[in-house]
Amino acid sequence: MKIAVVRETRPGEHRVALVPESCEKLCRAGFDIAIESGAGEAAGYADDAYRAAGAEVESDPAALAQSADILLKVNPPANRDGRAEMDWIRPSTIVVGSLMPLRSPREMEHLAKREATAFSTDAIPRTTRAQAMDTLSSMSSISGYKGVLLAAVALPKYLPMLSSAAGTVFPAKVFVIGAAVAGLQALATAKRLGATVSATDVRPEVQEQIESVGARYVGVELAQDASAGGGYAGELSAEDRERQREMLIDELAKSDVVITTALIGGVFAPRIITAEMVRSMRPGSIIVDLAADGGGNCELSVPGQDVETAGVRVMAPLNLPATMPEHASLLFSRNLTNFVEAFSKEGEFEIDTDDEIQAGCLIAKDGEVVHERTRDALRALVAEATS
Ligand code: NAD
Repeated sequence: MKIAVVRETRPGEHRVALVPESCEKLCRAGFDIAIESGAGEAAGYADDAYRAAGAEVESDPAALAQSADILLKVNPPANRDGRAEMDWIRPSTIVVGSLMPLRSPREMEHLAKREATAFSTDAIPRTTRAQAMDTLSSMSSISGYKGVLLAAVALPKYLPMLSSAAGTVFPAKVFVIGAAVAGLQALATAKRLGATVSATDVRPEVQEQIESVGARYVGVELAQDASAGGGYAGELSAEDRERQREMLIDELAKSDVVITTALIGGVFAPRIITAEMVRSMRPGSIIVDLAADGGGNCELSVPGQDVETAGVRVMAPLNLPATMPEHASLLFSRNLTNFVEAFSKEGEFEIDTDDEIQAGCLIAKDGEVVHERTRDALRALVAEATS
């Protein structure tokens, strides 16, 4: 089978779906690999490195995509930048990538109309067997790390405690809201930089993980269980939001940096920090809203921008993994390669909808959107348009 990779066209995107190391592996597994000339350049992977790894480098992306049996992507295919990427997809092409189906249901419908078989690696079940294929985890970890670095640069203070002839300065206080993959990486990074770290989450089972990276756990006694299954959180009741609000007012006023990563169902961001809470923080404090791609955890976040209110800077960066494209691409590429290899024999990918991993992340097949939550998202769009 032929695996093709084209340049990503999402604005600000610098990642590439396959790096040369993975091309070598997939060639050894019996696949033919072809990549668009320049596709890896922004991530630091030159055409010559792909050639040396056994890939063909092609200059016509339309011909390349149309000849593919498997198309590997970072973002959902799109018709933009003068390229009709979506329309290049032939019936029976297998598309694998971080397709973000719940945020892009229309694109998933389009893929179904093209009769592609589409797998989204961010819908892969969170199981031990699937861990090595989980692009969401690899990318969330980068966001957590980079979010702390952004805060450290913007903060008008040191993060660590420092003693000098001029006396001692005390460490900055970093508070993390939502302690799953991104949040735990943020805690570990801030801790390594010398800050005093603490975190909260609505799933009390994460207390042990928070403490394992040397952070203080700040719990809230919730009236209802906030777990929605699969390790994901659901929405809080009005009563529990009020309980959380009381705790947050206290914690935020003590914090120099607040990093938020909370998502519901792994996709949409609950509003947790109100404008009133921001105003209660000390001037010079920083909020980094890592849930900006899902709409943001802070009422004042403007996705993609930094805004300042009462001396508090609210940063809401989008697509942070794209700002570390070399390692983001390397990890993403390894995840996709693990997915392809797990279901292949002698250069042939086998579709097996009885397999738990494939069934979990299969979005479109035989002209239909088959992923139940994506179908719900499409129904919601139709209902919204007709109301
Ligand atoms: P996520 O991005 O969906 O959410 C981030 C965190 O925000 C979660 O811990 C969630 O509980 C928390 N949150 C949601 N609403 C909140 C609120 N109102 N206030 C405070 N916190 C709130 O999380 P994720 O990184 O996708 O991880 C989800 C789960 O999956 C975790 O349990 C994680 O350990 C698990 N996981 C398992 C695997 C695997 O086994 N292969 C891989 C990755 C993640």
